[in-house]
Amino acid sequence: MTATEEQTNAQDGAGAPPDQVDVAVIGSGFSGLGMAIRLKQEGLDDFVVLERGDEVGGTWHFNTYPGCACDVPSHLYSYSFALNPDWSETYSRQPEIGAYLRRCADDFGVRPQIRLGCQVTSAAWDEEDGRWDIETTRGSLRARVLVAAPGPLFEPKWPPLPGLDRFEGHVFHSARWDHDHDLAGKRVAAIGTGASAIQFVPAIQPEVERLHVFQRTAPWVMPHTTRSTKPLERRLYNAVPALQRLARGGVYVARESLVLGFVKRPKLMGVVERIARQHMRRHISDPALLAKVTPDYTIGCKRILPSNRWYEALVQPNVELVTDAIAEVRPRSIVTSDGSEHEVDTIIFGTGFRVTEMPASSFIRGRDGRTLAETWGGSPRAYRGATIAGFPNLFMLLGPNTGLGHSSMIYMAESQIAYVMDALRVMAERGATAVDVWADVQRDYNARIDAQLEGTVWNTGCSSWYLDDTGRNGTLWPDWTWRFRQRTARFDAESYRLRSRSESRTAVPA
Ligand code: NAP
Repeated sequence: MTATEEQTNAQDGAGAPPDQVDVAVIGSGFSGLGMAIRLKQEGLDDFVVLERGDEVGGTWHFNTYPGCACDVPSHLYSYSFALNPDWSETYSRQPEIGAYLRRCADDFGVRPQIRLGCQVTSAAWDEEDGRWDIETTRGSLRARVLVAAPGPLFEPKWPPLPGLDRFEGHVFHSARWDHDHDLAGKRVAAIGTGASAIQFVPAIQPEVERLHVFQRTAPWVMPHTTRSTKPLERRLYNAVPALQRLARGGVYVARESLVLGFVKRPKLMGVVERIARQHMRRHISDPALLAKVTPDYTIGCKRILPSNRWYEALVQPNVELVTDAIAEVRPRSIVTSDGSEHEVDTIIFGTGFRVTEMPASSFIRGRDGRTLAETWGGSPRAYRGATIAGFPNLFMLLGPNTGLGHSSMIYMAESQIAYVMDALRVMAERGATAVDVWADVQRDYNARIDAQLEGTVWNTGCSSWYLDDTGRNGTLWPDWTWRFRQRTARFDAESYRLRSRSESRTAVPA
């Protein structure tokens, strides 16, 4: 291949990854792409981004279901270093967010480092050489540092419904929407009533013949304040970027105030609950339906969902809300525990993601040859959501206990990216070839997190996907997000075993 061909391939994301790089990043969603941009900005060009999709964007590339949008305001749901004055709505929709990410990849010049359609199949730490051996569907490579940014909400969860394999109609998951399947005139089953379903159900309701919405747990739904942005607003933000920063700051503070209710003063959630109850009563007058949509758990325990269209959709004549458990799937129908049979042509799963058993954890192997999944034993833990004892030079982005139910995950990702950048700086300064967090530091960190989570609405209010098989909440960050930022502002080398000139252990913070 000529040098020009190689360059063109790299620009297209085609071609094999290089044999050796300093930093390999898995994933090009908000976090992986943000990492790439920061590396580039610091002049650290020796990196590659391995992306399994055919375009950058991660979850915002793969989730294309009708009505897909972000329930965090656009001002906050963007990189701090790349505010977008041209958002067309105050809460952006997926196509606009996808376009924003593709533009960032172009504008910040990281395309040459991105390999699309390049799925990582294994990554193993070579203790002797101090390198990660990485296998991908496009060849193998070695890297000094591995940044795993596969995204917590990526792998669709398919509930094992009895008889599903015998269903003769069409089946797909909301996270991999089948746009070739025409829903017009179809009898459709939508399973699940979480953040995704609440967006796609109202979007498809007008076109389908019948819609059976299977609800296991009623969500708490709030009025949505989304609106189109005005041309004047956009002109102002373009002309005076500081104004948008101010607006972003306002959104951040408003969102952060929810932590008060979630963690610090749970009684405050009573106000939010009253608004949610009024919202459902405003749209639903039928007492039977009202009873079905009224949640029976403390508000805030699962993600509070904003929508002005959810209840409106449920009261339409072609919609039935089914709350009896699904007993079995037959070739042309779904049967519930009360014996009712619902004839359907299409089943759409809006059943969420495999969060605590993310696939990357089964192919990343640490110092002792064990995978992350084996090390975790069904209960993911990390230090600062980023590093894991026994996995030197591995940094996860949006790893365990970095999740939020109320604010922007990009804020958390950027905090961790700063931490990784500082780690690279410290390693270079000290001539460290490898860093590995001390096991007791990681243990103490998680003990503190567990103590903070104890008594919060997430741990006591209901059972949710935030909790792993052991009942531990390995998903959420239980504090102000600015505290997370503070804690990740500096790479605390004293919490790590540095492999280099000195193998001796430095002080471990209490
Ligand atoms: P989800 O919130 O996990 O909801 C899954 C739904 O499927 C729930 O209603 C769940 O019921 C139901 N379900 C799961 N297994 C089931 C089974 N075996 N039988 C019947 N029902 C079952 O998933 P999601 O809606 O895809 O959202 C996942 C996360 O993605 C969100 O929490 C959010 O973090 C993110 N998301 C964000 C946005 C956004 O706007 N920013 C939009 C979409 C998604 P139970 O409640 O009873 O488990």
